[in-house]
Amino acid sequence: APVIGVLALQGDVREHLVALAAADAVARPVRRPEELAEVDGLVVPGGESTTISKLAVLVGLMEPLRARVRDGMPVYGTCAGMIMLADKILDPRSGQETVGGIDMIVRRNAFGRQNESFEASVDVRGVPGEPVEGVFIRAPWVESVGAAVEVLAEHGGHIVAVRQGNALATSFHPELTGDHRVHALFVDMTREKRTAESL
Ligand code: GLN
Repeated sequence: APVIGVLALQGDVREHLVALAAADAVARPVRRPEELAEVDGLVVPGGESTTISKLAVLVGLMEPLRARVRDGMPVYGTCAGMIMLADKILDPRSGQETVGGIDMIVRRNAFGRQNESFEASVDVRGVPGEPVEGVFIRAPWVESVGAAVEVLAEHGGHIVAVRQGNALATSFHPELTGDHRVHALFVDMTREKRTAESL
């Protein structure tokens, strides 16, 4: 089974570890560069993106994260994690950096201005069966994407799920619902990358 880390600096780490294990990955927290080096893929959880960014710099993970994402490591960001994977934030807070990896501009707290938190059914391309129940908590949306980015889902006319190569991001939190299909999609992406490398 692929070994998938969850960036464990701040945010809902435990929920992602549970969802990944349910989707047949070996899941473990990543707090240090040595731990990042040992995983096949990585989830960047929801939480507070400025805090995650500052802690990543503090513990020396920001550059190693950028290097591995540039190198094609499968990575999945939810909510604050989506913000971390954006090449550009529309309204960054001071000192806020991103890992990048997805050619998109993200607006922080975009849905939060309308509604602190809500749930909505979302059709996600690549996730078979019924729509995913999307939990949005002060969620970002994707303002615009570059040509290499595949839009996987929209809600209310706004992009809420994207993929570019091995990088996946959702505005919402599948780790909070007990439905592990989005995590299963990511585990498959990681498994495919590993298989391709061993050929
Ligand atoms: N609004 C938060 C941020 O800007 C994200 C919220 C979340 O991850 N649930 O980082």
